[in-house]
Amino acid sequence: MKLNGAAVATVAVVTLLSFLAGTSDAQGYDFFYLVMQWPRAVCNHPRSNCRPAVPQTFTIHGMWPQTNSGGSPQNCPGSLRDVRSSGRVDRTTLGAMDRQWPNLKRGGRDPNSQFWTHEWNKHGTCSRMQPQDYFRRVVDRAASVDLLRLLRSNRIQPDNRLYRQADIEAALNVYDPVVKCNDVRSGGRSYKQIHEIRLCVQMDGNRVVSCGRRTQFRSCGNGDIRFSR
Ligand code: 5GP
Repeated sequence: MKLNGAAVATVAVVTLLSFLAGTSDAQGYDFFYLVMQWPRAVCNHPRSNCRPAVPQTFTIHGMWPQTNSGGSPQNCPGSLRDVRSSGRVDRTTLGAMDRQWPNLKRGGRDPNSQFWTHEWNKHGTCSRMQPQDYFRRVVDRAASVDLLRLLRSNRIQPDNRLYRQADIEAALNVYDPVVKCNDVRSGGRSYKQIHEIRLCVQMDGNRVVSCGRRTQFRSCGNGDIRFSR
C-alpha cells in the first residue's frame, strides 16, 4: 500500500497522541505516592505541636500525583474551602478518613478536615478525580496495606531499636517504596528514624504496586535507622 503525504501526517499525529496519552503530558502525572506516616516520628520532637493520644499505627499523610521524571504537580484548579462540609464526600468515606487519616497536629474546630483540605487543595486537585473518587481511593488503598504487620513479620518493630537499611528494604520488597527519615534526639544523641513510607499507586488509584526499582531511602544517611516507640 502506498500512503500519500496527508495519510502519513495523520498516522504520525495519531501515533504521537497515543504516545502522549500514556505519559504525564496527557494526564499531568504518571502514578501516585500514597504517603503513610509513622505518628511517633511526626510527634517526638519538642515543637511538633501534636494532639494527645498519638496513634500507634501508620496513618495517612496523603496521596500525591507524581511524574516519572520526579515532578509532582500541585495546586491545580478545584480547591475546596472545607472537605467535610463541602458535600462532595459521602459520610461513609468521611468516617473512614476520620479513622485512617487523622490530623496529628493541633488545629481549629475540625483539625482532621483542615488536614484533608490542605492535602486536597495541594495534591488531590491534580488527580483529575472528583473529591469523592479521590478520597475513597486513598482510604481503600491505605486499608489494603498493613505496613506495621509486614515489618513485624520481619522482626522490625517500633521499639526504639536501630535497624539495618538492608533489613528494612528486604521486609518491604513487595512494594519497593520510598522510606523517608527524619531526625530525633534521644539521650544526647541524634538518630535517623522511620518517618514516612511512600507507596506507589497506579495512576487510576486502583492498586498499590511495586515502585519498580530498589527501595529508596531519603534523608536517612547511610547508617542504621531507629523505629521509634
Ligand atoms: P504536604 O504539604 O507536602 O502534603 O506535606 C507536608 C506538610 O504536612 C508539612 O508541613 C507537615 O508538617 C504536614 N503534616 C504532616 N503530618 C501532618 C499532620 O498529621 N497534620 C498536619 N496538619 N500536618 C501534617
